[in-house]
Amino acid sequence: MSTVHPVILVVNAGSSSVKVSIYVVPESAHHNVDIQPELAAHGQIEGIGVAPRLTARMADGRVVADEQFPVEQVADHDAAFRLIRLTLSVGLRDTPPVAVGHRVVHGGADFADAVAIDDPVIARLEALVPLAPLHQPHNLTAIRAVRAAVPELLQVACFDTAFHAGHDPLAQLMALPYEYYERGIRRYGFHGLSYAYIARRLRQVAPDLAAGRVIVAHLGNGASLCAMREGRSVESTMGLTALDGMPMGTRCGNIDPGAVLWLAAQGMEADAIQAMLYGQSGLKGISGISSDMRVLLASNDPRAVLAVNFYAYRAAQEIGKLAVTLGGLDALVFTAGIGADSAEVRTRICAYLDGLFGVRLDAQANAANTQRVSRDDSRVPVLVLPTDEEGMIALSTARILRERGGL
Ligand code: ADP
Repeated sequence: MSTVHPVILVVNAGSSSVKVSIYVVPESAHHNVDIQPELAAHGQIEGIGVAPRLTARMADGRVVADEQFPVEQVADHDAAFRLIRLTLSVGLRDTPPVAVGHRVVHGGADFADAVAIDDPVIARLEALVPLAPLHQPHNLTAIRAVRAAVPELLQVACFDTAFHAGHDPLAQLMALPYEYYERGIRRYGFHGLSYAYIARRLRQVAPDLAAGRVIVAHLGNGASLCAMREGRSVESTMGLTALDGMPMGTRCGNIDPGAVLWLAAQGMEADAIQAMLYGQSGLKGISGISSDMRVLLASNDPRAVLAVNFYAYRAAQEIGKLAVTLGGLDALVFTAGIGADSAEVRTRICAYLDGLFGVRLDAQANAANTQRVSRDDSRVPVLVLPTDEEGMIALSTARILRERGGL
């Protein structure tokens, strides 16, 4: 009879999607913190409340579901979560999980690492909802759904902020009256699960570079950049919330706070301003066409062109800023949907970086999204490394499970 390996569930609940991945913890990982649990299956529902679509596949690529549902059938995150679990359990003969790892966007000043979830932790995460209004409530819904179904099951919160927890006060300050800083109104930084994964991956593929001054550009629907020294985050372009920094699919990135005051003075309510800054700005707001980079790159509409140009310009500016913090640059890494897959966007960003940093892309390698996309004579090597936030959650969850004697 074959051994049944422990199973970890990884849940990533976004604003209109729920993604569930099932990881198997191999025997070798029971005592070794560096061994990555293996992905067995992944399911997701996108378009919750609008046009729910379920897709699920096993790690070998076998598709076990690809189905559109009526809105009423998957009206909320709870329903989505149950449907994915049901779908995946068929393929896995329903081995019950030994732990669930959740992506939690905001850990505030309280959490510098992943943590086992209990009532006090939930209360602290609730208090951070206003700082991540689009994500945190859904992260908490998923946690509560699992708690209600299997109260004794270990749940672990893995934070997008935690990787940045060691930042110097200079990187955390905003020049408001100091009492606000003391009350937690600071620049935290996000996408930390992605950056933690990339730091780990870079140590594996290029340890010499990982030991130096590295900028990682996580360019997905959300986008930020992180400055790392010796694999640790020292600065992020994102701040108190995931709105700051460079423009994104629908989020504005850095803007003059005076613009917000102007909107308020026009009589726009706080909720409407929030909806605009998070959902109607960025690439979508400028182009008026789409938040999807592929659509914009394929368009010759002048505003689509402007949106892409502005995106590349701002990303390059942020790289300059982070290089100042690092006192130089030893490697540049691109990751996430746009970063890892769009040769065109990398080309446009790097076009700004030749003069200052001597960055030169190899056109052929870049077009093929290979691991090293810079020429040999590029002063700064440029790498493309796909990210794996869920793998990182599985790794942290396995570590906490092991610490608690669960492996
Ligand atoms: P999320 O932040 O939701 O995880 P992703 O990391 O998958 O999102 O990034 C989504 C973005 O990546 C979209 O704007 C999409 O258009 C873009 N993208 C994916 N593949 C390509 C590609 N080949 N060229 C340009 N953009 C791409």
